[in-house]
Amino acid sequence: MLKEELSVPKHIVITMHHGPDGDAMGSSLALYQFLLKQGHEVSVVTPNDYPEFLHWLPCNHVVVNYMKQKSLAEELIRRAQFIFHLDYSQLKRSADMQHVLRQATAVRVLIDHHPEPNLSSKYLFSDSEASSTGELLYGIMKTWDSSLIDRDIATCIYTGVMTDTGCFCYRNAGVHTFLVASELMAYNIDRIAIHEQVYDNFSVQRMRLMGYCLNHKMEVFPEYRTALISLSMEDQKQYDFVVGDSEGFVNLPLSVKGVRFTAFFLEKDDKIKISFRSKGDFSTNDFAKKHFKGGGHLNASGGETRLSLEKTLHIFRELLPLYQDALNMP
Ligand code: 5GP
Ligand code: MN
Repeated sequence: MLKEELSVPKHIVITMHHGPDGDAMGSSLALYQFLLKQGHEVSVVTPNDYPEFLHWLPCNHVVVNYMKQKSLAEELIRRAQFIFHLDYSQLKRSADMQHVLRQATAVRVLIDHHPEPNLSSKYLFSDSEASSTGELLYGIMKTWDSSLIDRDIATCIYTGVMTDTGCFCYRNAGVHTFLVASELMAYNIDRIAIHEQVYDNFSVQRMRLMGYCLNHKMEVFPEYRTALISLSMEDQKQYDFVVGDSEGFVNLPLSVKGVRFTAFFLEKDDKIKISFRSKGDFSTNDFAKKHFKGGGHLNASGGETRLSLEKTLHIFRELLPLYQDALNMP
């Protein structure tokens, strides 16, 4: 049993997917504090940068960024007796860090809510019904030792649940999610402050970039109930783009009457990163897996290409007619 194996202090590394979001960081930092209280030596290692609107999270200062502190991160991973993989279930989603992780000899523990986990681990906590890794982790910590959960841990968990459910609005927020949220509230967390830190913490340039996207970069395809937004490197340069600035842009066209499928294309140095969102039964997960080497959940997924932005957009537009029926289901 994991609990027994961890009854004596161990070297532990917690890590998550490339481009960590609120759920990845919130659950990792919650688990960090929980394991620390048990007397372990714990590190949190991210594959790369994450948005500044998550830097206020309790214990954020301990995070080791693989892109910036490669040798330290590699040493921690090599030395680890346990590695917790949070909020992802395919090693390739660790991007450049996957090679070090593959070579690690540590006992692996996977805690994730993505469907079809594909990462061999001794301990597997996988529940695709859970709204977020935070919700799942909260249940694990509660049965493990509920006395260790405190306000800071609850704050981190709440951040994960809130961001992955779009403030409790998406379909993935179920009865259990609201029960968890109410239990977290009992730790006296400041949900207003959490919301403000995450959603009202953007630069002026980011707001102007959003306006530019809506005015000039949104394409709507009414016959397919679809819309896309794309951002080239040139666009990003114009608006002093920093990591996190396009967070949530993929959701914007879902507010257009009738639109049920959206895609957001972000040009990077070496690839095009794509986000997909849908309303209803259209599976963005299947779409991302089939055409863009990606995956995720039914209504929220991602993928990528190594093609030009123009070519990628062309492929996407050409795919839409093939999905006309599925996209127009009542
Ligand atoms: P986002 O669009 O916010 O980056 O990601 C939405 C969801 O899809 C998240 O659950 C994320 O983990 C997943 N996802 C994003 N990109 C990829 C990808 O390239 N591959 C896979 N398998 N999942 C992804
Ligand atoms: Mn998640």
